[in-house]
Amino acid sequence: MAGRGKALIFCSASNTIDPKYNQAARELVRAACLHGYDIVSGGTIKGTMRHVAEEAEAMGAVHEGILPRFMQGLEYPGLTRTIWTGTMSERKELMREGTDLAIALPGGIGTLDEFFETFTLARLGRYHGKVIVFNFDGYYDDLRGLLAGMVEHGMLDQESFEMVSFPATVEEFEKLI
Ligand code: AMP
Repeated sequence: MAGRGKALIFCSASNTIDPKYNQAARELVRAACLHGYDIVSGGTIKGTMRHVAEEAEAMGAVHEGILPRFMQGLEYPGLTRTIWTGTMSERKELMREGTDLAIALPGGIGTLDEFFETFTLARLGRYHGKVIVFNFDGYYDDLRGLLAGMVEHGMLDQESFEMVSFPATVEEFEKLI
């Protein structure tokens, strides 16, 4: 088991996704916990976030949830720590603080917003954790293709592109952490 660290999870808040994504999220969270990571997330009872929270709780892991105050009432009741922020921007800032991994699970625009902000900060040397995109079932093939296209067009440098890992399975994820 690796030393203790904090794994930040970005994921879907939607309740209408294929359950395979929630199952894969649970397996990844279990692996992170077994490797000694505490979990940090958006902390709500919505979508994949609820599955992340239930799995972290079942694993007995420390789980910090960071929520904007306007989401009061949506917080998962079993969080170890619930931290309230004034805005979504502040939330993203606090979510990243002190984390060693930032992992985007399959998600929608909120997840992509969190991923892109974190990737941009990593590129500028303002985020020092590993940036990981869980490419379960090829969900993020298009995102990887978009970024590779940016490299081809000179819009993104190869070194920055390589800051992001795209594990397709939990086993590949475990090799990165
Ligand atoms: P999405 O990927 O669009 O489902 O948005 C989920 C991600 O964005 C999560 O990681 C949350 O931190 C944040 N987020 C956006 N909308 C919500 C919401 N309605 N409830 C909770 N978190 C949300």
